[in-house]
Amino acid sequence: MTRTISILGATGSVGASTLDLIRRDRANWQVVALTANCQAEDLAKLAREFSAQIAVVGDETCLPALREALAGSGIEAAGGAQALIEAAARPCDLTLAAIVGCAGLAPTMAAIEQGRTVALANKESLVSAGDVLTAAVARTGATLLPVDSEHNAIFQCLAGNDLAHVRWITLTASGGPFRDWPLDQLAHATPAQAVKHPNWSMGAKISVDSATMMNKGLEFIEAYHLFPVGVERLRIIVHSQSIVHSMVEYRDGSTLAQLGPSDMRVPIASTLAWPARMDTPCAPLDLAAIGELTFRAPDETRFPATRVAREAVIARGAAPAVLNAANEVAVAAFLAGHIAFTQIVAYVEDVLGTYNPAAPTTLEDVIAIDREARIHAQQAMKAIA
Ligand code: NDP
Repeated sequence: MTRTISILGATGSVGASTLDLIRRDRANWQVVALTANCQAEDLAKLAREFSAQIAVVGDETCLPALREALAGSGIEAAGGAQALIEAAARPCDLTLAAIVGCAGLAPTMAAIEQGRTVALANKESLVSAGDVLTAAVARTGATLLPVDSEHNAIFQCLAGNDLAHVRWITLTASGGPFRDWPLDQLAHATPAQAVKHPNWSMGAKISVDSATMMNKGLEFIEAYHLFPVGVERLRIIVHSQSIVHSMVEYRDGSTLAQLGPSDMRVPIASTLAWPARMDTPCAPLDLAAIGELTFRAPDETRFPATRVAREAVIARGAAPAVLNAANEVAVAAFLAGHIAFTQIVAYVEDVLGTYNPAAPTTLEDVIAIDREARIHAQQAMKAIA
């Protein structure tokens, strides 16, 4: 039976992997909305290829280019933050939320408010608005399917089991491109080196997060909200091969793990087909060729981000939203060549130490905290520069 889908962040890495799967299974999907920020021509091309109902750019100044690229297609074009929200609220069977950063929060919430099934890649929205977002899911009866490979693995390992029987949820971490670099060289790591992940092909922001291990910190907070077993039952282990995507250990000593290639099409396919399964073009795992799987404890002296994120989730309140906003600003500054690699997490800690607003209870609260935390982060950078 044909299903309808909207893809928020269609021009990104996760968007491309999703559309690749849909392209291979065209007869079973109808595309409702495709969105981007400003890559108007790429978006229009995708909208034409998939006969989308509507294409939306978040940046309104890019709307004329989108309109021009869609001329004569009969596909609606829209632009701006409100247009993203309206597109996300359109009826569809599945919303794939893959905008990067807190910019994805309001559109993701719009889909949740409609009680939709949302395949969530946009981890920053859950980190910033964890309590507000999960309360909306409970109130509206929406379904959240985790796309992040670790959370998708945990989701699969938990199927049919009671959270009360969980002893540990263990997130695996690749350790990023600098996992074995000498400590004194980290300060000189360049953006080009940071975005070159050894195992995964991803967008620039998440690649830098992976290099600082803030990605694992964000995922720790994400797991805290998705699988409420308590902070003390969540842990991280470094597994540089990225074959085991995460594990759940039960009270009887059984550990269930999900294994697969380092290809986002595997977890994305599991959400597209859920609760069934579908084919992917990914090569089967050849464990004999891999030979052995290795694990080691994370080094929080080298990569303090996981400690900072754990402390933020324990502090609760606004801390995770502040952490996320400060990290987004610091990563953008690093990518622009304005700060050193090792300053990214230092700035995040600095902002967490100076800006401590009241806990958010609404979406508007989270957006206001995010805005203010970004100003604090910019000021911290100016002060140090
Ligand atoms: P990319 O940077 O590759 O793509 C981001 C997408 O979001 C693009 O479509 C971009 O549009 C759009 N976008 C960016 N800024 C805005 C904005 N202000 N308003 C509206 N749209 C915007 O990111 P990824 O695909 O790598 O990641 C997407 C999300 O998925 C992130 O939250 C990431 O953490 C998460 N994730 C990604 C994984 C991966 O393998 N890439 C794995 C697990 C999770 P445009 O092209 O016009 O800029």
